[in-house]
Amino acid sequence: MSDFDVDLFVVGGGSGGVRAARIAAQHGARVMLAEEYRLGGTCVIRGCVPKKLLVYASRFRGEFEDAVGYGWTLAQPSFDWPTLIVNKDKEIARLEAAYTSTLQKSRVEIVKSRATLADTHTVALGDGRRVRAAYILIATGGAPGYGDQIPGIEHAISSNEAFDLPQLPRRVLIQGGGYIAVEFAGIFSGLGAQVTLVYRGENILRGFDDDVRQHVRADMEKHGIKVITGCKVAAIERDATHLSVRLTGGNQVPADCVMFAVGRQPHVADLGLQAAGIAIAKNGGIAVDEYSRTNVASVYAVGDVTNRVNLTPVAIREGHAFADSVFGGKPTVVDHTNVPTAVFSDPEVGAVGLTEAQARAHCAQTDVYKAMFKPLKATLSGRDTTVLLKLVVDGNSDRVVGCHMVGEGAAEMAQLAAVAIKMRATKADFDATMALHPTTAEELVTMRTKSASYARAAAE
Ligand SMILES: Cc1cc2nc3c(=O)[nH]c(=O)nc-3n(C[C@H](O)[C@H](O)[C@H](O)COP(=O)(O)OP(=O)(O)OC[C@H]3O[C@@H](n4cnc5c(N)ncnc54)[C@H](O)[C@@H]3O)c2cc1C
Repeated sequence: MSDFDVDLFVVGGGSGGVRAARIAAQHGARVMLAEEYRLGGTCVIRGCVPKKLLVYASRFRGEFEDAVGYGWTLAQPSFDWPTLIVNKDKEIARLEAAYTSTLQKSRVEIVKSRATLADTHTVALGDGRRVRAAYILIATGGAPGYGDQIPGIEHAISSNEAFDLPQLPRRVLIQGGGYIAVEFAGIFSGLGAQVTLVYRGENILRGFDDDVRQHVRADMEKHGIKVITGCKVAAIERDATHLSVRLTGGNQVPADCVMFAVGRQPHVADLGLQAAGIAIAKNGGIAVDEYSRTNVASVYAVGDVTNRVNLTPVAIREGHAFADSVFGGKPTVVDHTNVPTAVFSDPEVGAVGLTEAQARAHCAQTDVYKAMFKPLKATLSGRDTTVLLKLVVDGNSDRVVGCHMVGEGAAEMAQLAAVAIKMRATKADFDATMALHPTTAEELVTMRTKSASYARAAAE
């Protein structure tokens, strides 16, 4: 490898790139990493972490309301957006510094620059430097898209800007039905804004179990979020004081902030992929094999830029597996099945495995177990909410193939349910597990009666 300046050049210092760089360096590789914005990437700077902090902030409203039924008398709480943003920024800066120091301790050379591929072994930096690398890892993540070019789209923000608004908008219109749109609807609404969510499809949270989708929508509406489906933004106009949003169908909605969360695109533009002859897959991401290797032997890609499963833990696993495979002598393939996932909406969603619809398409026999109940906490608080727990079982093997939950703690429950599902636990294993009382999760091991059972229709 001595013909090269480094053994590995990593383009992008987010979840996947940072992990790959650190592990490759620990395996003895000389590693350089370029980051054009801030180390830590989307997750740390303008994704999972700041979002969860905003979610926590938004949930205090409900806690204050709930407290009254438990005997608390509270002074009228008030909320200050700039304080939240300053405190959030401090935490993000702390995390960014921690990422920097971890990489430095691992002897990874960090370059604060945009990097592009000049050929299959050469990376060009912003200052004109060219670095020759035995291997190049592309870990450039994704970027928010805005969908169709509509009049006035320049007035809309994406989730990137939502984290840094100077003030909490009074009226927010969000276009999108995915987890980012739904989470921000909960954040803005919980903090006191009037929120309208507009989505072109039939129902929000496409890809999640249908019962979950209906349950979340109904609860969001109960909590005052206006959800309009089958429709999208046609135009945005600005006057001196506010924005006016015209929807397809003609409705006009006034707003102080319009946010688009209509899907993220793999960050592949102007990266020099053509110069290096790197192929793009049908999903718009960089095409890779199970070892994250592109069609060019010296170039690999991990994380959102490959558009496989766009979540932080997946990008981290892929980065780690790449480093172990190429520099650790331990070829490792990442299993992309049964990845647990959450929506930190109000109410929260946690899910792992097949939805009922997917199971019915895959399994000869599908059994469904469901529980819907008022959580104990809501009895004294009087909060109008219900929990949904659902197990999807392969009726022939008795294996639990899906677990879907809506309600407080759903994400935490999904992480543990994922262990059981990964271990191929059966419904009998769930039933044999002693309940932990009084919890919400205990219902997962006490559901005895099938709510539905389906045999797959014979193929024609
Ligand atoms: C609002 C939001 C909320 C999210 N919430 C969650 C969540 O709750 N849980 C979860 O698991 N996932 C969540 N995600 C997704 C998660 O953030 C991504 O899956 C993850 O960050 C992907 O990691 P990555 O390494 O592929 O890319 P990224 O983390 O995006 O890192 C890519 C890095 O490359 C840099 N870069 C790009 N091009 C270049 C270049 N040419 N030269 C140098 N640097 C470059 C970018 O600046 C960026 O820092 C969320 C995303 C968003 C937007």
